[in-house]
Amino acid sequence: MKHIYNSETFRKSGHELIDLLADHLATAQQGNIPVLPWETPDNQFDFWEKYDLEDKNTTTLFKDIIERSISLNHPRYMGHQISPVAPVTALASLVAAFMNNGMGVYEMGPASTAIEKVVIKFFAEAIGYEANADGFMTSGGTLANLTALLAARSVHARTDVWQAGHSGQKLAIMVSAEAHYCVDRAARIMGFGEEGILKIETNERFQMNIESLDNQFEQATKKGFQVIAIVGSACTTSTGSYDDLEAIADFAERREIWFHVDGAHGGAAIFSEKYKSLTRGIHRADSVVIDCHKMLMTPAIATALVFKSSQDAYKTFNQKAQYLWKEAAEEEWYNLAKRTFECTKEMMSIKFFCLMQLYGKQGFAEFVETLYDLGKTFAKLIKKRPQLELVTEPECNIVCFRVYNPELDRAENNRINSRIRQEIIESGKFYIVQTTLQNTVYLRTTLMNPFTSAHDLESLLNRDLMDNG
Ligand SMILES: *Cc1c(COP(=O)(O)O)cnc(C)c1O
Repeated sequence: MKHIYNSETFRKSGHELIDLLADHLATAQQGNIPVLPWETPDNQFDFWEKYDLEDKNTTTLFKDIIERSISLNHPRYMGHQISPVAPVTALASLVAAFMNNGMGVYEMGPASTAIEKVVIKFFAEAIGYEANADGFMTSGGTLANLTALLAARSVHARTDVWQAGHSGQKLAIMVSAEAHYCVDRAARIMGFGEEGILKIETNERFQMNIESLDNQFEQATKKGFQVIAIVGSACTTSTGSYDDLEAIADFAERREIWFHVDGAHGGAAIFSEKYKSLTRGIHRADSVVIDCHKMLMTPAIATALVFKSSQDAYKTFNQKAQYLWKEAAEEEWYNLAKRTFECTKEMMSIKFFCLMQLYGKQGFAEFVETLYDLGKTFAKLIKKRPQLELVTEPECNIVCFRVYNPELDRAENNRINSRIRQEIIESGKFYIVQTTLQNTVYLRTTLMNPFTSAHDLESLLNRDLMDNG
């Protein structure tokens, strides 16, 4: 065992690793390597199955992993919503990984538990909540949305589902048809079934259609459903559309149901004076989810779940785990596993806290503003080209468009756009994704790298691929 836990070996390989990562950062930022070194999944598996680290040197291993990974620091990385991390947060992650405090109870993470409360207060203030707000950090937007909806059920369902199961009671939630699939999944996990998920159609800007809310609510009620919650997207994943949170808050208040905001991606706009109006009304939500690993420069995975009323945060799990806590009903903010889905949890708060300390709110604002501005720049470039069609004016850094040939039918156009996207990612020159909206395939970009320039965007549009549509 001694050789495995040797501090000098760790010191040496650690220093080498930092050099390796710093070199990679510099190279990736130059854009001199493929953004994604394309390999088929089977070939990739083959490589790693046969892998043999003969020299037993971790630097060789880490180098091979880095060379075969997608580089988020590459300015032509513009696909999914995970951010290139502020490099210093990777150091905080290393501390978290090394110290491995479990976070379930206070003793298993004294500093990081208290830091988590500080981080949540920081979010609560930016949301516009009052002093009674509280919450915690959890492993991803998906889990955070489920946790919030479990709290909503606990507060609003007429019977105690936690004790008695559904026992004939039919519950439902309302959510935009364009919401992230995890909201649908959460409702199904909670036993609501297909019918218990009222998918609200969207308008031409892919925002939840407010006019149809009352009608949908009444129809569901007639069918015997109790609608317990409505979920607003800030913003949606496919097109980056912000729902009208103020209008949804009015509706939720009138109908006396829970209002949850899925701000996994775009909730970060609360930190920007320039863009926070997109989230107008967010302070009226009962719960808000914001991912730090998307628009807040933090390594995955780190998500804030904030409740307007601190008591609600304790209602998700009424379970007792006697060996962990004396009395589950007591609100002990410092024993986090009472409120989190996880038992053992990463020390995620320290990664975000590190950024708060170094750069403050201004750092987050700059990141959001740089990228949202870039979305607008990109839209302008797209609109200049007649063969390209923008799906909708972007509200943030998610921009969807397609190559459109009016002489071809939809299926044909879809095929062309899918082929273009595949050729682009296999070329390693850019990384973009695709999305299907109303049966139409669009090229989807999320401008996540603050060093992506207008020139990079022009180059993407200038590819021959784009012109022979
Ligand atoms: C990314 C995203 C999620 C899922 O969050 P994870 O952290 O990936 O689990 C949920 N909702 C929206 C709107 C998202 O953009």
